[in-house]
Amino acid sequence: MALISEHADPMGAAIYDYHKYGIADVLRVFSSQFEEDEIPVSDLFRDLEDMPELEQVALKMAHGRILDVGAGSGCHSLALKKMGKGSVAIDISPLSVEVMQDRGLDARLVNLYDEDFSEQFDTVLMLMNGTGIIGNLDNIPTFFARLDHILAPGGSLLIDSSDLRYLFEEEDGSLMIDLADDYYGQLDYQMQYRNIIGESFDWLYLDFNTLAYYAEECGFTAELVHEGDHYDYLARITRA
Ligand code: SAH
Repeated sequence: MALISEHADPMGAAIYDYHKYGIADVLRVFSSQFEEDEIPVSDLFRDLEDMPELEQVALKMAHGRILDVGAGSGCHSLALKKMGKGSVAIDISPLSVEVMQDRGLDARLVNLYDEDFSEQFDTVLMLMNGTGIIGNLDNIPTFFARLDHILAPGGSLLIDSSDLRYLFEEEDGSLMIDLADDYYGQLDYQMQYRNIIGESFDWLYLDFNTLAYYAEECGFTAELVHEGDHYDYLARITRA
């Protein structure tokens, strides 16, 4: 998916409504692996105080020239701004970018994988299951190649994810995972807002060890910075 079409941008439409009217309809999420779910749109507009601790830690650590990847409503960039730190926010959702610009942010309609985007940053932020944007395991080398292009010398990526193993754990702690299947964190998602249905896309959850393994394969080092209460964590990735 290069950029999202303005007419098939369910999350952007939800963000747009919430920004404009202070309220939004239900944002539905479908997956072939799971039951239908919902994303509370107000959560996408969370303030610093309402953010999970690992996001607050990431924002405190961010410094220098900062890139907020997949910035959504711009909640992290706005929190950074309040802390006196500037950032560039990118997203593939035209409506989200419009909202972020309206909120006074330096927001651009850019796909992280677009090689024309070659500015360099000291801190790259990818939050709210930031590994999602990697999509699937096969795309990991491409992701790290892009990271290598946009990270300034000495720069770091702050990225969060969760280990989805708890979804497959039996009561006795054993895992109900078929080793012949794809990695258990590899999901497909599709969203709907009102009558707007987006395209289906791959969304990757990575446990820390798997992330660290691939980071090393690609010439980077991953460090576990903070662990949340529910199999979630924040990692800092730098060039090895
Ligand atoms: N970081 C925000 C939003 C997370 S939702 C928050 O924490 O609230 C993920 C966002 O990433 C969506 O807005 C989606 O449009 C965007 N996105 C997905 N793939 C992308 C890509 N390749 N490049 C840039 N943004 C992307």
